[in-house]
Amino acid sequence: MIYFDNAATTPLDPEVKEAMLPFLHHYGNPSSKYYTAAEEAKEAVQVARSSVADLLGCEPEEVIFTSGSTESNNMIIKGVADTHWGTGKRFITSSMEHSSVLEVASYLTTKGLQVDLLKVDNKGVVPPELLSATLDRNAKDTFLVSLMWGNNEIATLNDIIPLGNLCKQRNIPFHTDATQVVGKVPIHLKDLPVQYLSLSSHKIHGPKGIGAAVLRKDELGIRPPLTPLIHGGGQEFNLRSGTLNVPGIVGFGKAAEIAKRDLESTQRQILALESYATHKIKEHFSSIVSFNSPSGEKLPGIINIRFKGIHNELLIKKLSPYVALSSGSACSSSKPSHVLQSIGCSLDEVRSSIRISLSKFNTIEEIDQFIAILRG
Ligand code: PMP
Repeated sequence: MIYFDNAATTPLDPEVKEAMLPFLHHYGNPSSKYYTAAEEAKEAVQVARSSVADLLGCEPEEVIFTSGSTESNNMIIKGVADTHWGTGKRFITSSMEHSSVLEVASYLTTKGLQVDLLKVDNKGVVPPELLSATLDRNAKDTFLVSLMWGNNEIATLNDIIPLGNLCKQRNIPFHTDATQVVGKVPIHLKDLPVQYLSLSSHKIHGPKGIGAAVLRKDELGIRPPLTPLIHGGGQEFNLRSGTLNVPGIVGFGKAAEIAKRDLESTQRQILALESYATHKIKEHFSSIVSFNSPSGEKLPGIINIRFKGIHNELLIKKLSPYVALSSGSACSSSKPSHVLQSIGCSLDEVRSSIRISLSKFNTIEEIDQFIAILRG
């Protein structure tokens, strides 16, 4: 089976599995004290927290472990919004976001908050001028701006620095969903105008059910105010209660360590695969294929294409014994893609589009086999 659905989830790295195995036996609770099993679990969590922080260029205490990006997005947006319930305050985001941001935005409107959905251009990018104009009209009452860094369906990259700076100049907190960019682009949070960031382990060859919300501290070392999504025993600096998922955290930490160690070679490898696949698709299907992903600067490894006259779900189903592919986000797979519609695709175009997403574990031979199967 050829696996080309890495934007949905990635295979576990064997090194990660190796690091996790002992912690399926070591059952110590890291929040317990004194005895060896608890202290070892605590130490393992600290090591993992440092590895995730190293990958992102932030402090370990800024990393809050969650169950993944859906939870992180919910925690950050609802947690910041909580201090503004009923005050008519405004949340700004874009039409391209993942459902775990858009559904939260729609929930906020039911609580009396205003939501502005910024329109993207035909490549799927939020133009900084548009954010600037929107903030100029609403700077006083905006409590948070959330714009994704890299898109999971068409691989658009937003220009995070100017977008974040526009917020910083007006003292408005800025959140970015970095789920798809982590491990694929260098991230130095210390140099970025970003207060909140979401990421997930299973997109970087780590286990599922674990991720992080990053909450940057201010110059005085104080975390921004945020109401926890999950109240309880006070784990994770009182921000996310519940007994820690130690094997998951250890696996996430190892995946982060590998992602940092191999960042350049992974980028090179995925770019080479992508450029080979793009070349082959153009060579064999130029008369019926168009590219939905932007041609210039983009997230490596995601190719979104449409085949004229072909129904995507039927094609994906037909190919499923040989190739794992999808038509877009696994989190909104029952609806026509809002992302493709945002960049101006008609419903017919959406229904003939498929997403190929590659990882460091794919090979040129798999691309050749895929092309042969498609030509079949
Ligand atoms: N945001 C983006 C951009 C994603 O691609 C995904 C995963 N499809 C998520 C959020 C949700 O992540 P998780 O599966 O960890 O909840």
